Amino acid sequence: MHLSEAVRSLKPSATIAAATKAKELKQQGVKVYEFTLGEPDFNTPQHIRDAALEAMNAGHTHYTPSAGILQLRQAICDTYERDYGVSYKPNQVVVSNGAKHSIHNVLSALCGPGDEVIIPTPYWVSYSALVELTGAVPVLVETTEESGFCLSPEQFEAAITDKTRLLMLNNPCNPTGAAYPVSTLEGLARVAVKHRIPVLSDEIYEKLIYDGSEFRCFATLHPEVKDLTIVVSGVSKAYAMTGWRIGWTLAPVDVTKAMDNLQSQQTSNPCSISQYAALAALNGPQECIDEMLAKFVERRSYVLGRLREIPHITFAEPGGAFYAFFNVSHYFGKPLQGGVVVNDATEFCTALLEQGNVALVTGDAFGAPGYVRLSFATNIETLAAGIDRLAEFLNPAT
Ligand code: PMP
Ligand code: GLU
Repeated sequence: MHLSEAVRSLKPSATIAAATKAKELKQQGVKVYEFTLGEPDFNTPQHIRDAALEAMNAGHTHYTPSAGILQLRQAICDTYERDYGVSYKPNQVVVSNGAKHSIHNVLSALCGPGDEVIIPTPYWVSYSALVELTGAVPVLVETTEESGFCLSPEQFEAAITDKTRLLMLNNPCNPTGAAYPVSTLEGLARVAVKHRIPVLSDEIYEKLIYDGSEFRCFATLHPEVKDLTIVVSGVSKAYAMTGWRIGWTLAPVDVTKAMDNLQSQQTSNPCSISQYAALAALNGPQECIDEMLAKFVERRSYVLGRLREIPHITFAEPGGAFYAFFNVSHYFGKPLQGGVVVNDATEFCTALLEQGNVALVTGDAFGAPGYVRLSFATNIETLAAGIDRLAEFLNPAT
């Protein structure tokens, strides 16, 4: 059949593709040390699962308003008021099928052919693909390990043209773990206000912050920036709820209305049962976040300690999220375990999976050649065994 131009050049999500490959190997009976997918390994907390059962039994198994049930939209507003002191009303909220869907809604509402969207690299793999689906052009601005992988206000301003429709910011960042300093965020907000550039602020990792770094919601950074900000977040990472598919946007009323219209035509509403589960997540006890965070703190420090022991690997310490993103380019062109020679990060990941049964994601997928991403959202025993194997894989060349 004739495929549309939009999908012909569309590649599958590299993170999901890497995870699928690892799962296939596992099904063949191979013991794979899997660090691909960015999702907490914990089960969703009990009280949230209970709320979903109660919702089903109470008959909440029907269509809901397309932007989501009012109680959930109100709970989202209450959460932002409580956590960040920023006021939103339920008519500024659209609940969607995961934050990925929320991002798609924002891009579809704001961008079209000929428009430009500024994306700092390294970026989460779906950003550029979702921009391209709208016909807009991703304008990639490189950030480096030396700058902690943070976009500077000067870089942002220099990338603005009269076609710029949006800046996509991800704080804390997947894949780098960069947690932006407040002063940098304030500088970015000033540039956005000066040039009236909307900002999609993807804050899905907002609760996963390390070493006492401060998280600030982008909408709070400048008195005039809220009207230019579309906050994206959700329950996937903070409450270990990736499978429930609940994300949201907080935005000015006109953009919210446009996204609500779009969603009502495209997908009706997000799953009713998941909405009640998300309601319980936001309104219920929050200790579960601290408990999971404590595990991530332990894993992060273990992984960084181990990586520091491996010669010639470099990285910027992740201040948030649950990824170690490190440069392995020293090892290109040199014989590794089994005499294998690799020339880029994609070949590196393929060879590491074949030789050591360790699954990472190539930095090429994130616009960062020479780097690989390791998700430490898994237990220490698996991390220990996997990093042992990574070290063995590199050993002949060290
Ligand atoms: N943004 C970033 C930066 C992510 O890493 C992810 C990955 N899950 C998402 C958005 C999408 O999250 P969700 O599972 O809620 O669609
Ligand atoms: N965001 C996660 C990751 O980067 C989940 C996979 C995906 O949605 O791409 O691994």
